[in-house]
Amino acid sequence: MASAFAHALMAVTVGKTFSQKFTGTKFFLLGVFCSVIPDADVVMHNFVEYDSFFGHRGFFHSFFFCAVLAIFITGTFYRNEKTFSRIGWMYIIYFFLCGASHALLDMLTSGGLGVAIFSPFYNERFFFDWRPIRVSPMSISHFFSDRAYAILASELKWIGIPCAIWMGVMLTVRMIKGEVRTK
Ligand SMILES: [Zn+2]
Repeated sequence: MASAFAHALMAVTVGKTFSQKFTGTKFFLLGVFCSVIPDADVVMHNFVEYDSFFGHRGFFHSFFFCAVLAIFITGTFYRNEKTFSRIGWMYIIYFFLCGASHALLDMLTSGGLGVAIFSPFYNERFFFDWRPIRVSPMSISHFFSDRAYAILASELKWIGIPCAIWMGVMLTVRMIKGEVRTK
């Protein structure tokens, strides 16, 4: 995995890309939830092999799971919106992108097994050819003891700075369009 910080930052960046109608603590917290929850599958290490269907980076990292989760989150936390209305679809798309960004970031990491993005239909695991992000250990104690600096530096370079630039561009465009008040 990339670290939970990196996945959460992606969720916020994707959320900020949506129209300003889509905002608020609930919106972003649920986005962060969808972006980090696939790694809850590490508990499966106790029960199944890493490379099995429910192993880490298996079904729970798939686009299908992200889509089901997005529909569930929208239907549960945005009951006032009809789930498949235009606004409802925007929420579904956002929460889906948060989960999908997790899988895609993991495919850019330097270690572990690939990601079963097309599970349950096709359980092959994939990486991108280009994998610049250092893989983050699965346990917090390892994360902070071993290679934390190198991992965070790699994530800052390949995720943090691009996200900051993208949010800066979005903010500038909105200021030019007069959508953001400067005072
Ligand atoms: Zn992951």
